[in-house]
Amino acid sequence: MELWPQWIQEINTSENPIKIEQPLVELATNEEEVISLSKLVLNRKDLGIELLDIRSHEWIQRSFQKKILKGVISHNDGRIDPIQLQICLRKALTKEKVEKINQNVELIEKGTSLIEKRWKVYLANGEKLELDSIIICAATQSNKLIKKLGHDRPSQPILGQAISIKLEENENYFHDWPPIVICNQINLIPFKLNEMIMGASLETSPIPNSEYLKQIQSISGYASEVIAKASIQSQWYGLRSRPIDRPAPLLEVIEPGLILATNHYRNGILLAPATADWVKNQIAQEDNILTQDIY
Ligand SMILES: Cc1cc2nc3c(=O)[nH]c(=O)nc-3n(C[C@H](O)[C@H](O)[C@H](O)COP(=O)(O)OP(=O)(O)OC[C@H]3O[C@@H](n4cnc5c(N)ncnc54)[C@H](O)[C@@H]3O)c2cc1C
Repeated sequence: MELWPQWIQEINTSENPIKIEQPLVELATNEEEVISLSKLVLNRKDLGIELLDIRSHEWIQRSFQKKILKGVISHNDGRIDPIQLQICLRKALTKEKVEKINQNVELIEKGTSLIEKRWKVYLANGEKLELDSIIICAATQSNKLIKKLGHDRPSQPILGQAISIKLEENENYFHDWPPIVICNQINLIPFKLNEMIMGASLETSPIPNSEYLKQIQSISGYASEVIAKASIQSQWYGLRSRPIDRPAPLLEVIEPGLILATNHYRNGILLAPATADWVKNQIAQEDNILTQDIY
């Protein structure tokens, strides 16, 4: 989280301002979550996480129809608008003169002699790139690329559905809500007037199942009637790549100049600055080794 403010400062523009909308509130609905949130407060107080006095927050009484057992507030966590973030990142790439090639990589091959670059990358349009370092971040497709080089890092796609709802209310129902609330593992993000983004499901089938949408909108039976009966404005889904036999993400130098930075599962956006920092350090080490080889 430390790196996010630095990133925002670097990529923010006046046309597309981005900021972290803080704080984040997490609510517990069962004993297991109560224990886990209590531990969090105990161990992470220095990071700005504290207990929330549930009874003094009218929005909690109003928005949930079953008893919320505990709540914590994290003053430094929050939400970033992902669309604005992508626009800013693209602009930053252009400003840094990063060449973008809109082609699939079909094959990666090892260079065969010391005078060649270490890697050859074959694109779908027939073009070949020769490079000393490659960073593979192709989610579920990453393993296909490295398998031909004798490596195996299997992953599984986990489908996630999300919705945006609009309430039939005149007053702004969410006027006193924090920017992001997590309840029953569902993220609740109020935006505009009486609209809210809700998600996301964890589905192993490749086809989205509408039962999960009901579960999301009802916040697994906890949503107030106003929220549960609101109209769905839009719905979407995506695939997250999760490593099969190890924890996410996969950050690994599998051969000199062949770097895996992928399979972030549910946290690819959250971990983007930390991942970029890790990759930058690996490349710097690689550059040192290459320079030593030359002299
Ligand atoms: C509904 C939903 C909600 C989410 N919410 C959050 C959240 O709140 N916070 C959070 O941190 N994360 C969230 N995530 C997870 C996050 O979206 C992922 O972790 C993130 O997208 C992973 O990014 P990625 O670039 O590694 O992989 P992807 O986004 O899957 O992108 C992989 C890219 O690789 C490209 N590719 C594949 N094969 C090749 C090839 N051979 N050659 C060239 N390119 C190739 C694909 O075209 C694609 O563009 C959410 C995911 C979903 C589905």
